[in-house]
Amino acid sequence: MHFASFIQVGESVQNPDKYYQNNVANTLVLLDAMQAHGVKNFIFSSSAAIFGEPRYTPIDERHPQQPINPYGRTKLIVEQVQADYDKAYGMKSVCLRYLNAAGADPEVQLGERHDLETHLIPLVLQVASGRRKNISVFGRDYGTPDVTCIRDYIHVQDLCSAHWLALQSLMSGSDSQAYNLGNGNGFSVQEVIDAAEQVTGRKIASVNSPRREGDPAVLVADSALIRERLGWTPQYSDLSTIIKYAWKWETRGTLEI
Ligand code: UDP
Repeated sequence: MHFASFIQVGESVQNPDKYYQNNVANTLVLLDAMQAHGVKNFIFSSSAAIFGEPRYTPIDERHPQQPINPYGRTKLIVEQVQADYDKAYGMKSVCLRYLNAAGADPEVQLGERHDLETHLIPLVLQVASGRRKNISVFGRDYGTPDVTCIRDYIHVQDLCSAHWLALQSLMSGSDSQAYNLGNGNGFSVQEVIDAAEQVTGRKIASVNSPRREGDPAVLVADSALIRERLGWTPQYSDLSTIIKYAWKWETRGTLEI
């Protein structure tokens, strides 16, 4: 299972070399090592960024693949490399195209810690815990019901179970496959802030900021294929539940909730 990519869209635009080196070249090194040692099964953390600007939502596996930034292109290139390695070398893969990974291990052993935090839920919770003054809402002029962007947040534990099912399918001889992996439920930036206020019982100050470049209005996945083929059923799909675990992580050691 390969989780070692860089993941910041903005940084990939500023510094594509870093992204092609790590996400593509280093993945080729890994695949070569697998070949050398006879490892035939590969599970890859891909991304909804391979689809680019959504033509329709929810995005299913047939959606056109036209990434709009280097990050998305690195993920698509690796998916294509895997298809070629399957044909040529019989290496089987499952590509899991994540939507917005969120939440934390329910036992609070593992959680998100990015050196430069850019993700909505951890930033909102840093405001609640007092580590940050306010949250910038990137764009209040989208054509969505409350005019803020809608995303599909998937709890990390549900991502884990999808990987486990993918591994079992490969080990029982299934063919290579790519799956879109989200909740199928979209939540707006404002809904995230409101839900975080409810979960934490604290006021979360927000300021209006311009749109962030490259942000589509709505990104929601259709995960029917992985539900149907692998029996995947998300257990933590409710937004408050996702935020509750992220809050446990944000306040670990400081607060009993
Ligand atoms: N967002 C925001 N303020 C922030 C960070 C994110 O309004 O400080 C919005 C962003 O525009 C997007 C959503 O929150 O619509 C989720 O962004 P995030 O960076 O968490 O994940 P992404 O969708 O980029 O993978």
